[in-house]
Amino acid sequence: MSGEKWFIEHFESEGTAFGLRLNRKLEAKRTKYQHIEIWETETFGYLMTIDGCTMVTSRDNFLYHEMMAHPALFTHERPANVVIIGGGDCGTLREVLRHPEVEKAWQIDIDEMVTKLAHKYFPELCEANDDPRAELLFSDGVEWMHEREAGSIDVIIVDSTDPTGPAEGLFTAEFFADCRRVLRDGGVLVQQSESPLLHGETIIRSMHRNMKEAGFDTTQTLHFPVPVYPSGWWSCTMAGKSAEVNRFREDDAGKRPFHTRYYTADMHQAAMQLPPFLEEAITAGE
Ligand code: SAM
Repeated sequence: MSGEKWFIEHFESEGTAFGLRLNRKLEAKRTKYQHIEIWETETFGYLMTIDGCTMVTSRDNFLYHEMMAHPALFTHERPANVVIIGGGDCGTLREVLRHPEVEKAWQIDIDEMVTKLAHKYFPELCEANDDPRAELLFSDGVEWMHEREAGSIDVIIVDSTDPTGPAEGLFTAEFFADCRRVLRDGGVLVQQSESPLLHGETIIRSMHRNMKEAGFDTTQTLHFPVPVYPSGWWSCTMAGKSAEVNRFREDDAGKRPFHTRYYTADMHQAAMQLPPFLEEAITAGE
């Protein structure tokens, strides 16, 4: 309707788009790495976009953040040291720090402006940033991982933007090999792996291949809804270093000592059940 303003993310290569009706634009910051904008939407609270792509909204970010953090942490036997690569909005960090056995969590995002804007517009996601176990660093995750001491981390969570621009290197076999080196035995890696419907035969399939090529023993994709990302359906893919990632500490997940809005042991189990088309997309050519 005339006079109404919408944020529309055009997903050109697939001929689709997603929109949110806007009240107003609040910020536009062009950094060395990307173009970050904050919008006030009519029904989803605040919206952060990077280079025109939806990153987080106030209303639905719990779906993504809970599923990036809890499945990996309940898969590891005893996650004490955790690293988040990307994740500058701090929502994944907040979920990680809900686990009492976590002793230290590092968040390494390339762009400090993402975190500055998250503090201002998504303070609820930043509420664990002052936890003494948290350390926020601002540098390239590919370089950080390359320089990190071997066998020093239990869980690595790659909460990155799409595989273009600064995040491109976070999807490669070379980066996964560095992650594997940095993990202790029993370690778990998880990377956001885009849409099961739109990227099953491309990004998800090559992620499994790259993780195996990097030496990981087991891999597992989990899927869950994220209405504001292309196709409304999203995924993450886990890899284990001498660890099975298709099973998890189900009892502990059921008795978790914190509140969640999407994650439960049953949702975790359900997220690992792959529909045939996705299974076929992942395993084609093997
Ligand atoms: N949930 C989001 C999604 O799937 O669209 C991701 C959100 S999070 C804000 C993505 C973060 O990855 C951004 O803050 C960006 O700065 C960061 N990032 C991109 N490339 C990076 C790299 N090479 N090293 C560290 N952080 C990176």
